Amino acid sequence: MAAHLSDSIASLPGIGTQGVRILKTLGVVSLRDLLYYVPFRYDDFSTIKSIASLRVGDTVTVEGTIKTINSRRSWKRKKLSLTEATIEDATGTLSVLWFNQPYLEETLKPKTKVALAGTVEYRQGLILVNPLHEPAGQHIHTGRIVPIYGLTKGLAMRRLRSAMEKALPAAREFVEWLPRDVQTSESLPGLSEAMKAIHFPDTRDTLDAAVARLKFDEVFLHQLLFADVRRERRRLKAKVFSFDQVKAKDFLTRLPFTLTLGQKKAAWDILRDLSQIHPMNRLLEGDVGSGKTVVAAMAIAQILEKRGKVAYLAPTEILALQQHTTLCRLLGEDHVGLLTHAYCRLGTVDFKRDDFEKQIKKQKGCCVVGTHALLGDRLPLPFFDLIVIDEQHRFGVAQRHALLERQKDHAPHLLSMTATPIPRSLALTIYGDLDVSCLTEMPKGRKPIATAIVLQDQQEGMWKHLRGQIENGERIFIVCPLIDPSDRLGVQSVEETSVRLKAEVFKGLPIDVLHGKMKFDEKEKVMEAFRQGKVQVLIATTVVEVGVDIPEATVMVVLGAERFGLAQLHQLRGRVGRGEKQSYCYLLPDTLSDRSRARLEAMVKTNNGFELAQKDLELRGPGDLFGSQQSGFPDYQFATSADEDLMQKARHWAERLMEEDPTLSTYPLMRQKMKDAFEIVHLE
Ligand code: ADP
Ligand code: MG
Repeated sequence: MAAHLSDSIASLPGIGTQGVRILKTLGVVSLRDLLYYVPFRYDDFSTIKSIASLRVGDTVTVEGTIKTINSRRSWKRKKLSLTEATIEDATGTLSVLWFNQPYLEETLKPKTKVALAGTVEYRQGLILVNPLHEPAGQHIHTGRIVPIYGLTKGLAMRRLRSAMEKALPAAREFVEWLPRDVQTSESLPGLSEAMKAIHFPDTRDTLDAAVARLKFDEVFLHQLLFADVRRERRRLKAKVFSFDQVKAKDFLTRLPFTLTLGQKKAAWDILRDLSQIHPMNRLLEGDVGSGKTVVAAMAIAQILEKRGKVAYLAPTEILALQQHTTLCRLLGEDHVGLLTHAYCRLGTVDFKRDDFEKQIKKQKGCCVVGTHALLGDRLPLPFFDLIVIDEQHRFGVAQRHALLERQKDHAPHLLSMTATPIPRSLALTIYGDLDVSCLTEMPKGRKPIATAIVLQDQQEGMWKHLRGQIENGERIFIVCPLIDPSDRLGVQSVEETSVRLKAEVFKGLPIDVLHGKMKFDEKEKVMEAFRQGKVQVLIATTVVEVGVDIPEATVMVVLGAERFGLAQLHQLRGRVGRGEKQSYCYLLPDTLSDRSRARLEAMVKTNNGFELAQKDLELRGPGDLFGSQQSGFPDYQFATSADEDLMQKARHWAERLMEEDPTLSTYPLMRQKMKDAFEIVHLE
């Protein structure tokens, strides 16, 4: 039966009920989803060689007949099973060894014709260790450029790859939505063709072309959106807040520090935008700890002065709570409100949820802090004059766009803030719809965070040393990696670490945990205890990655550090070094390849986010194709910050098409694609 994109993956032979269940945890339900689960890298086993011509180091496929095959236990390590085989072709014989796959004795009986793929090693003769295998001539796992997918517990690569191969015919149904002009001028393959080649490319060239196509699709869709936003914005009006110099001076004199030059310039950009008739749409970019909040607060103060209303959106409730405290300090608490699951407060008064909206409407001048979900649902955003989006990279493009979309007559000014370290010129291209201000320097007096890679044999010593520091009153973060994509909330990994540390080195110390499964008030309690020093060791997932500001914490320990991308490590490290004291960051890798070592060493060498982002790009080998999550590059699954050229081309096309046909009526498929991607309503 022919496979269709809308079919359930359960219809694929050989995938198994467990396979279906596990893929579902990754969001894969239909063949369409499955085909969009693209490889993160490839092994090139397309060279097929005869046994006599093999050299050490060759990465190849060898085809031959199994001559002998036997499994036994290892003498040295009893848990290890060894399966030794020899295969033969017309030119000679070759040894093969598999670890812990004793069942191969059954599958690969003598006289079977097989294809084996791997890298030739030397161990008392040439040998293939743990090669991929399949019946000769099949070319799914060997004899080609072989796709490698991200896996999760219980889902074997072999099974996933086979399933993908069976789903592949359905790729013919992908609808070509790119205008022909664009596709031919940019020499891009068709979508069906590209989707096939992204999984099972015939050559490196077809793979490159497929990658280019998927990147273009993604970037082009964004640029269409931006072109649309720019066009729309020219028609919108916002409330004008003329610059109040006295108020600004007053705000500055009450700060316990002086602003950096960058902060002053950014504040100036923003205040000027607020005094224009068209709504501001500005991105404030600055490294972790560069002091973005105070810049936003200065703008908010101007709005409050003129009795306007501000919504301050944070990506998490923890962060909302913290920013509420900070803004109360900077702006005085009378006009600052908080809306979370637990709080409904304005000034010092707690309200019933149902009265809150009325109160806010009545209030002359206020700033409400909350999460996107709460503020959007509970309080209609249109009646705010300024919306501040903190850590905007945590919100999707569609979410950000929805903010613009809802406001037709009276559009609010929009200020987005991010720590994504990308050069200004690139930011202008990527966020084609935004103006950009950058904070390029750190506040004075910051001590660089001393960073070290702690290898296995030194870890014992490090834990003992930390124990001493904790007993002296220090507070430390311990961040655990997500080992398995299905443990998305990190419960398992955090709890295992906590049990281990509590039983051993940190016995008797005040330890607590923080992970995604905990309820908000549990999280809040833990954070508060940590803030006050009642808890001194906080074992957490990357929920602490964003924005958390506890100046008394001085040590960040990252477990399984090689699993994190540089951008994420930098964000994590940014949680310490916020106070006067010298801070430390310890990176504990589980295993260390050359590449991950280079990455961690970059962390040791510099504290600068921009330098790290640059290094990250350099360190990405051609084998690693897609890793936007790893790189911390916002919004894109395929494109990276190295694709600036592509973005410019896409921008050029988007502008041209939108110019010629603002509602895209001659491109119904493209319009549909855009609507699906960003839930756009006005292109009806
Ligand atoms: P981020 O840019 O990561 O959001 P924050 O706004 O949280 O950074 O600021 C980090 C810390 O730096 C805060 O404790 C803040 O009070 C402090 N800070 C901000 N600006 C300055 C400055 N110009 N001089 C000294 N400290 C500053
Ligand atoms: Mg911040």
